[in-house]
Amino acid sequence: MFNKIKGQDRAIDVLQRAIKQNKVANSYLFYGPEGVGKFTTAMYLGMAMNCHSTMDKRPCGVCPSCKKFLSFSHPDLIYVFPFPKEAGKSDITVDGEIRSDKTLKEYEDYIQNKIKTPWKEFFFTKNIGIRIASIRMLEHRIQLSPNEGNYKICIIEDADTMNIQAANAFLKTLEEPPEDTIIILTTSKPNSLLPTIISRCQQLQFQPVPKSKIEEELLGFETLEIFEAKLLARISNGNMEKALRLMEGSKIEVREQTLQFLNYILNRNDLKFIELSSQFRTSKNLTKLQEMFSLLIIWLSDIVYYKHQQSEITNLDKTEILEILYERNPNVEEYAPELTNFMEEMLQRLNGHVNPQLVIIEIYNRFIDIFGE
Ligand SMILES: [Zn+2]
Repeated sequence: MFNKIKGQDRAIDVLQRAIKQNKVANSYLFYGPEGVGKFTTAMYLGMAMNCHSTMDKRPCGVCPSCKKFLSFSHPDLIYVFPFPKEAGKSDITVDGEIRSDKTLKEYEDYIQNKIKTPWKEFFFTKNIGIRIASIRMLEHRIQLSPNEGNYKICIIEDADTMNIQAANAFLKTLEEPPEDTIIILTTSKPNSLLPTIISRCQQLQFQPVPKSKIEEELLGFETLEIFEAKLLARISNGNMEKALRLMEGSKIEVREQTLQFLNYILNRNDLKFIELSSQFRTSKNLTKLQEMFSLLIIWLSDIVYYKHQQSEITNLDKTEILEILYERNPNVEEYAPELTNFMEEMLQRLNGHVNPQLVIIEIYNRFIDIFGE
C-alpha cells in the first residue's frame, strides 16, 4: 500500500527497510509541507506493524487488522488530533470519552471526513488545539498492553498545536515509551515543537509532491483532461490534497471567469469587467479570486512559452487565445516577470486588509497596459 503515497520515495524507503529488518523506532517525527501524505504514511506504518499478512508487502490493506485501521476502529490505534473544547464543559476523558454532545459530533465528523474524503479541509467551529486531556488519554491507553495487535500505534497529528502543558506532559511519555508502542508525530511546522520533543524522535522529512506525480495521480480520475491535470498540478504547488480539492471544487467556474477576464481585456469591455469585479467587493469570494490570480499567472507564462516552448504550455486547449494575446504584445517576455511578481505579492496581501475589488481592478489595468490595443 505504501506505493499509493506519491513523491515520498526516500521516507517510504527508510520505513520499509526498518519494517523488513525489524528496526522500527519507538518514536518518529514526520515533518514537511501540508497535503503530501504524512498522515497516510503514519497510518500505513501502524498497519504494517500489526498486519496479519505473511507476505513481504505489508500492510496488505485487506486483513482484519488492516481493515480496522482503515476504519479507525482498531483498539490499538490511539489517534490524537487538534479539536475544540466547549467552554465550561469537560474535555476528553482518559478513556477517550467526550461528554459534550457538540464537541463529540465535530470530533466524529472529523474522523468520518478522514476516512471518506481525507483531502477535504475540515473546519471546526471553534479554536482547536491538543490539550493536556488528550495527552492523558494517550498516556493511559499506552500503559495498557496491546489489545489485538503486536503494537500500539499513537498518531499525533499536527503535533505543533499542543499547548505548553500538553507538550510538557507528552515529553514524559516520550522519554520512556513502553516497548510495544510506536509514536508518530506529524507536523508542517516543526519549528513550533519543543526542541526536546524533536530530539527524541527519529525525524523523517516529507517533500512537496513533484508536479509530474500529481498529474499522474489526477489522470487516474477518468473525468479529467490532460490540460486540466497539468493545470491543477501547477496551481497546487506540490500539495496533493489541494490538487484533489481543486479537482472537486470550483475550478471549472474559476477557469471560465479567467477566460472572461482575458476576453474583456482583448475586447476592451470595461463595463463587463466592472460587473465581474463587483463580486469581489467583499472578501466573500476571496478564495475564488486567489484561484483566479493563480490561473492568470499560468496564463502569463503560457503566453511567454507560446513562442519558444510550446511543450510547456498548460492551457493546451486555448492556444487560439494564447496566439491573440501573444500577437498583441510579442515583447511579453519583458513585461511578464514584473506582472507575475505583482500578482504573487497581491496573492499574499489578499489575506490581509486590502480591498479585493481594487486589487483586481489594478491587475486589469496592468493587463490592459500590456495587451490592450
Ligand atoms: Zn494487513
